[in-house]
Amino acid sequence: MSPIKADGPLVRRLAELSVGNVTSGVDLGRLTRWRIGGMADAMVEPDSVEHVAALLAFLSNEGVPYCVVGETSNLLFDSSGLRGVLVRVGDRLSGIEVSGSRMSVASGTRVPHVARTSAAHGLAGIEHIVGIPGTMGGLVLMNGGSQRKGIGSHVASVQYVSETGEVLSYTREQCDFSYRHSSLQGRRGVVVGVELELEHGDSVSINQEMDEIVESRAQRFPQDEPNCGSTFLSNPAMYATVGPPGKVIEEAGFKGMVLGGAQVSPIHANFINNASSATSDDVLSLIGLIRGTVHARTGFLLDAEARYVAPDGSMRPAHEVCDDRGLTREIRESDRNRLSDVV
Ligand SMILES: Cc1cc2nc3c(=O)[nH]c(=O)nc-3n(C[C@H](O)[C@H](O)[C@H](O)COP(=O)(O)OP(=O)(O)OC[C@H]3O[C@@H](n4cnc5c(N)ncnc54)[C@H](O)[C@@H]3O)c2cc1C
Repeated sequence: MSPIKADGPLVRRLAELSVGNVTSGVDLGRLTRWRIGGMADAMVEPDSVEHVAALLAFLSNEGVPYCVVGETSNLLFDSSGLRGVLVRVGDRLSGIEVSGSRMSVASGTRVPHVARTSAAHGLAGIEHIVGIPGTMGGLVLMNGGSQRKGIGSHVASVQYVSETGEVLSYTREQCDFSYRHSSLQGRRGVVVGVELELEHGDSVSINQEMDEIVESRAQRFPQDEPNCGSTFLSNPAMYATVGPPGKVIEEAGFKGMVLGGAQVSPIHANFINNASSATSDDVLSLIGLIRGTVHARTGFLLDAEARYVAPDGSMRPAHEVCDDRGLTREIRESDRNRLSDVV
């Protein structure tokens, strides 16, 4: 079957399917957290698990390219856009139920709200997620967290809709969580719900710890610029030998450096900001130069946490794209013409 395009007729068919809110022609440069990306042909925001199942079955049967997102806080879309459907799981598929030490969370629920709800119910263990932007679906897929923790250690089960529309349940073991990794990455389905198992604690002290975490992040991380948080993963061997990515990137001279519209944050060198109309190529070029230069200086290869979304909706860590395109290399004298420390 030849793939059909997500053009006008498809948008009409999606609307007829009644699988949530359908929008034609979405500007990713306005929608995404990095404020980078061209036009997406269409966006669907499902309201229920049934919507997700019917939508994925339809897209798979028809061979329509698509990608699944939450709040896009870890994603670099190509500046040429998305020739397919953006399946956005957010506020329309959100909600929390608490029973004893368990919390059932719909995947579109925002992470800070999940953390504060756990505190309100005197449930401890996920204080470290309180300052992380994004949805629970994205957090579980990335096994996100802070303070060297990941959400996976408190996940009891994950409700998942496969790309053919089957509703499944996975245990923590099946999700195979490790540092910023889960077995759900690289698959085409949608996380629709998460069951968390937490510990009983004291609301006041849990909230206090969360306040301290939020305060500490505000001191250390850039607050207002569009970025996707830490660009590179912390490699434990590198951390033990030469330090965390931010320090190593700073020592390599990249802090504050500008390439096109992208800038290595002057506040924290592991953040890349969209300083002025950056393109995906600007960000990929910077990632490649940082990866290549740090490798030449330390012998360690930094892998990207940020994921690149190709125009066909496929996703992979951004450094893999840099390697394939020959962008991963040590900075040269000739690069000085394109790089500056002024936006
Ligand atoms: C300022 C800032 C600070 C950050 N700090 C941290 C931090 O401290 N720790 C940390 O771990 N991360 C951090 N991040 C990265 C990001 O917030 C997390 O990775 C977050 O969990 C991503 O959630 P999201 O909803 O935005 O997912 P997206 O960025 O939209 O997607 C990320 C991945 O998850 C997939 N996905 C999203 N939702 C679903 C779903 N429902 N079903 C299936 N797949 C899905 C996408 O396909 C994609 O592969 C930060 C980002 C920013 C901008």
